[in-house]
Order: sequence, then C-alpha cells, then structure tokens
Amino acid sequence: MAEHEHVRVAVIGSGFGGLGAAVRLRREGITDFVVLERADAVGGTWRDNSYPGCACDVPSHLYSFSFAPNPDWPRTFSGQTHIRAYLEQVADTFGLRPHIRLNAEVRRMRWDGDALHWEIETANGRLTAEVVVSATGPLSDPKVPEIPGLENFPGKVFHSARWDHDHDLRGKRVAMIGTGASAIQIMPAIQPEAGRLTLFQRTPPWVLPRMDRAITGAERWLHRQLPFTGTARRGLLWGIRELQVSAFTKHPNRLGLIESLAKSNIARSIKDPALRATLTPSYRIGCKRILLSSEYYPALAKPNVDVVASGLTEVRGSTLVAADGTETEADVIIFGTGFHVTDMPIADRVVGANGTTLAEEWKDGMEALRGATAAGFPNWMTIIGPNTGLGNSSMILMIESQLNYMADYLRQLGTLGGKAALAARPSAVQAWNRRVQERMKRTVWNTGGCTSWYLDANGRNTTIWPGTTGEFRRATREVDLAEYEVLRLRDTAKVVSVAEVAEVSGASEAKEVSA
Ligand code: NAP
Repeated sequence: MAEHEHVRVAVIGSGFGGLGAAVRLRREGITDFVVLERADAVGGTWRDNSYPGCACDVPSHLYSFSFAPNPDWPRTFSGQTHIRAYLEQVADTFGLRPHIRLNAEVRRMRWDGDALHWEIETANGRLTAEVVVSATGPLSDPKVPEIPGLENFPGKVFHSARWDHDHDLRGKRVAMIGTGASAIQIMPAIQPEAGRLTLFQRTPPWVLPRMDRAITGAERWLHRQLPFTGTARRGLLWGIRELQVSAFTKHPNRLGLIESLAKSNIARSIKDPALRATLTPSYRIGCKRILLSSEYYPALAKPNVDVVASGLTEVRGSTLVAADGTETEADVIIFGTGFHVTDMPIADRVVGANGTTLAEEWKDGMEALRGATAAGFPNWMTIIGPNTGLGNSSMILMIESQLNYMADYLRQLGTLGGKAALAARPSAVQAWNRRVQERMKRTVWNTGGCTSWYLDANGRNTTIWPGTTGEFRRATREVDLAEYEVLRLRDTAKVVSVAEVAEVSGASEAKEVSA
C-alpha cells in the first residue's frame, strides 16, 4: 500500500456487509475505494466459522444477495463451505478483487476535521479516505468468558469460531460450553467421535426442527432457466418471515403455540423425564434466538453425552467446575460462548471529531442514526450497526437496506459541491433511538424473561430491529439531510496552502496554517 494513498471510500471488512458495499459502490459508479480486510481471505464470519456442522439457519435463497442470486444452492439450508464459496464468487463476479487489501487490519482511524477526511492506519500502511464504511460485523470477535484456572488447563482449548482442525477429538473427553446457535450445531457433529461429551448448559435454548433437504436437480434447472422462479422462492421465504414479526414485536403471547411445537420436538428424542425437564426453557420462545436443529436432541440422548445444567465457573487442572458444584474431567474445552456484539472491538479504534473513541461515546450503549451513522463521527457509517439485527429473518435483507442508505449518502455528499462531510446531529440520533427503544418495550426480546446477547451490559437492547425488514427498508431508502449537519472546509484557500507549506517547511508549520 503506497504511503498516504487517498481514496474516496474505505470499506472495512469483507464479509457479506463489506463485499455488498463494494458491489454497491461499483454500481453507483464509484471505483475509487478499497476494502480493508484483516485476514488473508474474504468471507467474514463465514470464513472464520468452520466448525463441524456449521451451516446457516436461514434458507439459502433468502440468505444471499438479491443482486447475486445463486440458482445452484445445494440444500435448503446451506453449509458453511457453500456460503463461503458463494462470497468468493461474488468477489470474482463483480470485479472486486482489485479493491480488496488482504492482511490489512485497521489499527486506528482518526477523523481529521481540518482536512475533512479519515486517517487510517492499517497493518500494511496508512491511507486517507473521505468516507469510511465499517462493515466489521457483530460476529467477528469471539468471546471467551474469564474462567479462573483456565490458563492452567492441561488440555486443548478453543472457541467455536477458531476451530482447531488439527486437533483430533476421537476418544477424547470433550466439554462443550454454551448452548447457542453454534454449540447446537457442533454437538451432533462431534458426538460420534468424542469419547465422552459433556455439555455445559447455563440456559436451555428453544429448538425447533430444521426442515433441511437437498435442492433437487429439477429445482436448480428451473431456477437457472427461469430466474423469476428463484426470485419468487426468495419472495415467499421473505413474506412468511415478515408475517411472523408482529408476534415477536407486539404480541409475544401468540408465541405460545410455537412453544408447544418446540416441546414436542424435545419429547420426540428425549425419553428421560429428568433430562427433558433440564432441556425445557422457562422463558418465552423467541426471547433468545430460536434455534433450528433436528439432530441436537437425538445427540443429547446418546450414551456418551452428559448435560451439566449449569455454567462453567472454574477450572482446576483438568477438572471443570460448574456453578452448581458439578465436577467434570476433560481433555478438550470448546467454547461456544458467542461474540463481542454490544462491545464491538472496532469501536476502540475509531477516533471521532472530539478526539474520543466510538467505544467511549458508546460506553452507556451503542447508538446510531438509522443503524448507520454516529454523532461525532462525520462521514463514518457502519453496516449491521446498532439495532439492525433480526430475530427471525435474513440479515442480508438488512445489509441491503443499509447499502441503499450508503449509496444515497454518497450521492447527497456528491451534490453538495466542494469538499464536504455529513455529521449526524445528536438530536436526530437521540430521536431515532428514542423511537426504537419505545417500540422495543413490548417485544419478546425485552419482555420474554431471559437474558441474551441482544442486550448490553445495562440490559438495553441495542442489537435488534423492532420491526419488519420492510419498515427498515423504507426508513433507510434515503438520507434526510435535516438529520445531518453539513461540514465544509473552513477556508479552502488556506487548506490549499497547507499542501504548499508542507512541501517547503514540514508538517508542523502546515498544521498551524490550517488550524
Ligand atoms: P451465543 O448465541 O451468544 O451463545 C453463547 C452461549 O454460551 C449461551 O448459551 C451462553 O449461555 C453460553 N455461555 C456463556 N458463558 C458460559 C459459561 N460460563 N458456562 C456455560 N455457558 C456459557 O453464541 P453462538 O452460539 O456462537 O451464536 C452467536 C450468534 O451467531 C447466533 O445467535 C447467530 O446470530 C449466529 N449464528 C448463526 C448460525 C446460523 O445458523 N445462522 C449459526 C451459529 C451462529 P446463556 O444463554 O446462559 O447466556
């Protein structure tokens, strides 16, 4: 990367959000951009999560870009390898490779209010950008709880998102910590090879059967020959989920029927009444993400599997101690304990107009305007920002809405003339979040009687969008300039002279002139 390279847009991350942003930028006729990726390949969370059994619990025809339909999805719910291959294909098909900088982890980005651009420091050089689109995603930094004694555990320890494929689990005593979407996929996949498998369940999840099947050759042929059939399939999958939203957001009582289905799913595989009781949640279904698996309960019923109905609290040598005092011997600990979602680490690295980091600004909870922009951080926006998550549908729908917003943001910036920046007005950010939190009050995520990663340390739900994807699409169709302050170079003539002064007498003098 050349020193002091300048681009119009720097996209951070190359998962669904970052690659989607790159495609959209090109479609808007913007080619002066880079995609900065910390790893050595694209794919985001679908690159990092390669654990056995990893698959998506949203149907593939909905969990893909509307502008890049894939008629060849092999299964109704595709596995990680196919989704990752899809993203690689998107990078090729849309000519994104020349823009992508691999191994370019962003270490710091700082808003320069004099020059109206971002100074970005990466693992392989510096650059400046007029606009930053941060698409680092909520599921990118694994969270491992602080367990006393863990550092002295003599066996192998890893997180679900950092699977050690070189470590053979055959015949080992394996402890799986957590019962989230990752753990319930891992359990059935490793149960046959583990010697003994112990699941540490702090809170039981609600699990419904997953209606997965191979997509037939005839279906694929049809989707290839008549693309509108793929679009119709997607539309149907979307519409069904839109109709479910009001039960989550306004009428959690209606979810009782789904609880009955989930209970019969437990009863079908678990014959032992005591284990059945252990596995049955006591909170309203939907409060935590509803999980889909037809293999989880059958795996738990196998003779080499134990369930400890308590969280892991301490490690003493090779003994794992649960909160209820249960002791379990283990050779391997696998943490399926989720990600830093409400405390995303990238926020520590973004320094805004007031010299404070985004993490400092968000210390009492994440807040953005329409899920995208933050007060005090001009020309910076995030994809899958605060309150853009979904409880029951495809995040790709939300990402595409945010890309509409990004495109209009750049369009409007372009029409302002001269060098300018948009700064979200604090009053607009507050008004948006007041509305979001008001709507949140009735939702199952806040009233269902559980804690989840949707809630931050203060118990505030800063991750989920409390409405339909259609509502979010309408709210992000265009940028309302009244919600922004337009920043312009204070004195263009002076700033032009900065470059000249810098050339002859160094940066310190230049700083004086521009200040
Ligand atoms: P998660 O949903 O955050 O689950 C973390 C689990 O770890 C919870 O069950 C939690 O228990 C448990 N835990 C934390 N500390 C513990 C301790 N000391 N002892 C025992 N258990 C402990 O994480 P995840 O499963 O990785 O899923 C994260 C998100 O990734 C999902 O919600 C989903 O959005 C996404 N995901 C999606 C798919 C897919 O199919 N599309 C697949 C995997 C992941 P508590 O419930 O008591 O807090």
